[in-house]
Amino acid sequence: MTATIIDGRKVAEALRASLATQIATLSFQPGLAVILVGEDPASRVYVRSKDKAATSIGIAPRTIRLPADTPQSALESLIDDLNADDDVDGILLQLPLPAGLDAQAAIRRIDPAKDVDGLTPTNAGLLAAGQPALVACTPLGSMKLLAAAGVTLRGARALVLGRSVLVGKPVAALLTAADATVTIAHSRTRDLAAECRRAEVLIAAVGRPEMVRGDWVANDAVVIDVGINRLADGRLVGDVAFDEVAPIASAITPVPGGVGPMTIACLLENTLTAAIRRRK
Ligand code: NDP
Repeated sequence: MTATIIDGRKVAEALRASLATQIATLSFQPGLAVILVGEDPASRVYVRSKDKAATSIGIAPRTIRLPADTPQSALESLIDDLNADDDVDGILLQLPLPAGLDAQAAIRRIDPAKDVDGLTPTNAGLLAAGQPALVACTPLGSMKLLAAAGVTLRGARALVLGRSVLVGKPVAALLTAADATVTIAHSRTRDLAAECRRAEVLIAAVGRPEMVRGDWVANDAVVIDVGINRLADGRLVGDVAFDEVAPIASAITPVPGGVGPMTIACLLENTLTAAIRRRK
């Protein structure tokens, strides 16, 4: 059997359309502030696409560009100003920050009610406690893809490959909340291939090009590939060897065109959620 390809572009487009419809009915315009420090080329591209995506659905974006040598105190005082600014519903600090800046300290400064990236300890803690939170965008997008593919998570054996604060840990918390039986694997896991083979749902978020091979995956498993890796020849690949795994899995996300498009769409959804909650 060949896997169904889970089309992240299509699911993201439907989500954006639904958000645009909801925003059109509001009596105010939600605002998203994006802070970009330094000149990292990939970050500049991401920030531009966030700006464009926000505008296209009726969210007012405000991109604040700071030089790479910005002191920590200036970055934190900008965050304080945005926290206090009534027109700003969401604050996103584009990562990575230039060397010398403390990203964790800056993130802790963001008002959790405006933390649309879901990275403050408050939102991470609420998620871990199973309480309503602003959830990190990539994990949220991964869950929406599982839902769009009609995957039953209750009772399913799920394996999350990677334990980062950005992806692995929150996606494991979301799967647990959806009643899956979750294993988290990482660089110290013994016999990773055997762990993967036991999974009915496999989420790969390691940042290692095509690490998950065909013989690591159980027949009919559902595979969500979060990885985005640029090869020396310029090709973009995931953490999963797509050509080997697609004939074995029941459903799989491609790279590009899988989880990636969902991340920005979920950022927009979080901005709308934060805007509505703040005004209640
Ligand atoms: P991190 O580097 O923060 O975490 C990687 C995780 O993978 C760690 O837990 C690490 O284990 C584990 N790991 C690394 N190497 C191995 C290995 N050889 N065997 C087993 N486990 C390993 O990465 P992120 O979570 O931030 O990102 C993961 C991937 O997802 C990247 O490719 C990134 O580009 C992509 N990504 C994609 C997004 C999207 O929008 N689609 C958004 C965010 C990330 P340990 O903890 O033991 O070190």
